[in-house]
Amino acid sequence: MNDAAISLNAPALFDLSGRVALVTGAGSGIGQRIAMGLAQCGADVALVDRRTDDGLANTAAFIAQTGRRSLQIAADVTSGEALEEAVTRTEAELGPLRMAVNAAGIANAERCEDMPEDQYQTLMDINMKGVWLSCKAEARAMLSHGKGGSIVNIASMSGVIVNRGLNQVHYNASKAGVIHMSKSMAMEWVDRGIRVNSISPGYTATPMNTRPEMVHQTREFESQTPMQRMASVDEMVGPAVFLLSDASSYCTGVDLLVDGGFCCW
Ligand code: NAP
Repeated sequence: MNDAAISLNAPALFDLSGRVALVTGAGSGIGQRIAMGLAQCGADVALVDRRTDDGLANTAAFIAQTGRRSLQIAADVTSGEALEEAVTRTEAELGPLRMAVNAAGIANAERCEDMPEDQYQTLMDINMKGVWLSCKAEARAMLSHGKGGSIVNIASMSGVIVNRGLNQVHYNASKAGVIHMSKSMAMEWVDRGIRVNSISPGYTATPMNTRPEMVHQTREFESQTPMQRMASVDEMVGPAVFLLSDASSYCTGVDLLVDGGFCCW
């Protein structure tokens, strides 16, 4: 075989140097850790969250140590206008947006027959409409600069299975919606340079499910999972880097289950 004819450089496939990303939910949990990981791979990252504590500042401080740039943007993903502004600011201060991770989301529980309409609607507005609005703003920028882009939406294995013992019809439906919305957007943009994929985490140790009312269920989650443990947030970083980078250049419309084998049983 003629070596000169082989242009393969596998490590470079994961290199995000010189690219700009936007991450929603970057002030906590999965979104925060993915934002940190993208910076370690060379990206400059716009950090979006509604939190007013020091979550975004902590993410930004970590990124500064990697030598990359970041931007802290307080915004609510239920506002299309706020997201358009966030993208505009990102491109003005960091450069053309090439990558996005939409991780902002909430979870709560109530029996279906007792759930108030506003509890259902608030969750749907954040988890599903918020992902649509985020993708819309991100893709408009990616389509207009013409450099292409890769979007990863954080869904959940709850969009594929029903979590035993958790009364959360609205959450499960929202995540099934995110998976299919991602596939639908992937097909709308497939001939215009934008890839859209989703990651469906299994039980992951974040504030979302280590909150006080969930603690008693942690052991249950672990024993139901074939790997017998919850994921750490670090374990969501590799899948996100893969789906955002050139390593996955032929993947679009994929839902990547990262669930310790949960959906096999
Ligand atoms: P998390 O630690 O609570 O992080 C979510 C972040 O999103 C929080 O900072 C949250 O702020 C923010 N956020 C919520 N609503 C927002 C809004 N309307 N606008 C802007 N920011 C908003 O939770 P996580 O576990 O990392 O969850 C991240 C994503 O992974 C979610 O989509 C979740 O459904 C998904 N997921 C999590 C698990 C798991 O086991 N943890 C499993 C599967 C999927 P607040 O704190 O103010 O709400």
